[in-house]
Amino acid sequence: MDKMIAFCGLTCTECLAFIATRKDDDEERKKVAKIWSKEYKSEIKPEDINCDGCLAEEESRVFNYCKVCKIRECGKEKAVENCAYCDDFACDKLNDFFKMASAAKAALEEIKKNL
Ligand code: SF4
Ligand code: SF4
Repeated sequence: MDKMIAFCGLTCTECLAFIATRKDDDEERKKVAKIWSKEYKSEIKPEDINCDGCLAEEESRVFNYCKVCKIRECGKEKAVENCAYCDDFACDKLNDFFKMASAAKAALEEIKKNL
C-alpha cells in the first residue's frame, strides 16, 4: 500500500497498530498493546489494536485515541488532505503536537514546501 500520512503528519503506514492490523497478527497486537500501555500510561488491550489509519473510510477501523484526535477532527471538517494543505498551517493545536512529534512536523513541512 502507498504511504498514508495522517492529518497531523504521522505516517500511519509505519505505525505499529497499522502494521499489526494489516498482518492480522494477535501476537503482535499483544506486543503493541503492552508497549503503548507503558508509553501512554493507560490500559490498552490487544483488541484495541485495530487500525486502518487516520484516513480510513470506516470510522470503526480507526484506533480509539486517533478517533478522538482534535487535529484529525479539524482536518476532516476542513476537508483538507492533511494539515499541510490547510491555510492555517501550522495552527496552535498542531504546534503543540509538534513539540512531541518532530518527524510529523518535518513530514508536513516537506509536503507544504512542494505544494
Ligand atoms: S490513525 Fe491508526 S495508524 Fe495512524 S497513527 Fe493513529 S493508530 Fe497509528
Ligand atoms: S486548523 Fe488546519 S492545520 Fe490546524 S488542525 Fe485544523 S486542519 Fe490542521
